Amino acid sequence: MESNKPNNENSQDQGQKTPNSSNTNTQSRERRPNPHRQNNTPNKQGQNSENRQNNQSNNANRKPNNNPNRKPNPNKDVNGNVHDKEVNGNKKPNNNQNRNNNNSQNRKPNPNAKPNNRPSNNKSGGNKGRGRKKNVTTVNDTMRASIEENARVKDATMNPWKQIDIASKGKIRFTPLGGLGEIGGNMAVLETETTAIIIDVGMSFPDETMHGVDILVPDFSYLHTLKDKKVFVIITHGHEDHIGAMPYLFKELKFPIYATPLALAMIENKFNEHGLKADTKYFNFVTIRKQYQLGDMKIEWMHNTHSIIDACSLAIETPAGTIIHTADFKIDHTPVDGYTMDLHRYAYYGSKGVLCLFSDSTNSHNPGYTKSETVVGKTFDTLFDLAKGRVIMSTFSSNVHRIFQAMERGVKHGRKICVIGRSMERNVETNRALGFVDIDDKHFIEVHEVPKYSENEILIVTTGSQGETMAALNRMATDEHRHIKLKPSDTVIISASAIPGNEGSVSKLMNLLVKAGVTVRYREFADIHVSGHAGQEEQKLILRLVQPKFFLPVHGEYNHIAKHAQTAISCGVDKRNILLMSDGDQVEITPKFIKKVKTVKSGKTYIDNQNNMTIENDVVLDRQKLAEDGIINVVAQIAQSNQKIVGKLVISTHGLVPDKEDKKFSKEIEVLIETMLLNMKPEALKDHRNVENEIRAVIRKHVVRTKKRYPLIIPTIFIV
Ligand SMILES: [Zn+2]
Repeated sequence: MESNKPNNENSQDQGQKTPNSSNTNTQSRERRPNPHRQNNTPNKQGQNSENRQNNQSNNANRKPNNNPNRKPNPNKDVNGNVHDKEVNGNKKPNNNQNRNNNNSQNRKPNPNAKPNNRPSNNKSGGNKGRGRKKNVTTVNDTMRASIEENARVKDATMNPWKQIDIASKGKIRFTPLGGLGEIGGNMAVLETETTAIIIDVGMSFPDETMHGVDILVPDFSYLHTLKDKKVFVIITHGHEDHIGAMPYLFKELKFPIYATPLALAMIENKFNEHGLKADTKYFNFVTIRKQYQLGDMKIEWMHNTHSIIDACSLAIETPAGTIIHTADFKIDHTPVDGYTMDLHRYAYYGSKGVLCLFSDSTNSHNPGYTKSETVVGKTFDTLFDLAKGRVIMSTFSSNVHRIFQAMERGVKHGRKICVIGRSMERNVETNRALGFVDIDDKHFIEVHEVPKYSENEILIVTTGSQGETMAALNRMATDEHRHIKLKPSDTVIISASAIPGNEGSVSKLMNLLVKAGVTVRYREFADIHVSGHAGQEEQKLILRLVQPKFFLPVHGEYNHIAKHAQTAISCGVDKRNILLMSDGDQVEITPKFIKKVKTVKSGKTYIDNQNNMTIENDVVLDRQKLAEDGIINVVAQIAQSNQKIVGKLVISTHGLVPDKEDKKFSKEIEVLIETMLLNMKPEALKDHRNVENEIRAVIRKHVVRTKKRYPLIIPTIFIV
């Protein structure tokens, strides 16, 4: 592992090309998105040879970009659209009325033409009739040369990915195994010929059709195929949807894990729960701004801002080129701990040329910026001022900055802090141990001490903001909590928004709280919660800092990644260089192209949290069938001699017909079976399995016809 060059080396490199930053500003304002202009190539192969030419000419000859469409700004209108004719030369750089005359001469496009900055004192017609003489700008050769030079430098600073060695034979493969087509469950594999890194191992939540399933973990089948490579697990941050499946992975496969301290501490908590304590020997604590050589890849963790502490993006140097993976992020310029996102590193890698950017698409539909976490603190101030009795604050147990802000406000308002809820207690304890929550012990009390204080001296920080039935807040709301009974004087703050899929349970919780008579503070205060994910303007900033050749929007359902792709196109990424992927897709990326090469096995494994065990697929399918279509049990003895039912046929149904119709329905089934038996060939009756299949078929046909349902049909037959 070696230390990176300091940032300013980057600006030194760039210094030759970019005299000052205002150029870049001007440039980005004028160069409005025009995807057709970025890489005007007929196909990927052709594009690359041309890119190389552009690259060479930029670097070696230092001539203005020989792409006619990239000519300096005198050829562009205010929207940045390029015109073959110099129609808009009058707008800038010299606002010269005489231009109109020039333009009317209908010049032919000439990519090699100099900007139309002819000294204006040649002309006078444009000022006629104005009543007074106008000040006219004289553009002499020196000025024209300067304009051209600035335009050339601007061109040269765009698309630094053109520096990538197109002749390189390096290639990598990227395979998302979770997190695409869904929010959560993030896991992906990036591999070279000899090395594979597994980026995050997250869990997700089931939908309402997955009865009895508590969490979903990605299918690890593909990881078993990597055994000939050096494999490493790379963790970006400690959220459940990035580390939640780690214990399940380690029960199947074990690899060295690289992550920041908080993420590893949270994984350790999980390993302890799952009896994997010994596996902490696989832990490697990383330092940000350092490169780690893992196989033939070099990885740097870059500090970012998100709704958890110690979150990072990744810069990965591979044989094919540099990959930037933002992981989850937002760009918070005023974070609670003062440590802003390390945008310098993005700029550093961006200026060296980035082959491909993978970026968080969660909030890609949100225009503008996501607000800073600190705005929530101000809201807490207001809410604490308003609260007369106890304050009960609930948020995600991993959002330590949120929790810290509430605690800090609580202390300021003379309240003692009581932390309730297993995951909240554990996370607060871990973050205090690591020094991320700096609040003195004397401010904390145990739950049994709460009654010792007056109501306005209590702040309870608890779990359950998603309406989870087992969480502390829900148990308080249903009056099932052992220690905390809600009172009308209480203020309950829900500092969260419902994760997609949890809206119903959050609404249920609201109803319970309102019924209990407490003051509920939720969405009526706009800044009671802010997202941890970047809005469009932040996504654009990353796209512009990195300026990648290829772009893969990740983390989101299809509509999220599609929207992010549009944003990328508007920021100059060629739409042919963007792929919208699904879990299991494998793409190959080389300096020349990106293409899907195959699909590997992906999917979800169902987990029952009560025992941390896997639930087999067919069990979940049976449960779905039972819930949706009911069940029919048939037990019969059949005499082979006369092909008739012996004794009484037992038929029981559930979830199909109301009790009062049970008898009638059973009779129908009985008649069907009797008829079927009589029509069977005697030799077919010898095999009870055969008879069961026949019975199943005849009942299914009847039920589909009469009830339009597909119940689970279980015949048990004895041939006598
Ligand atoms: Zn996250």
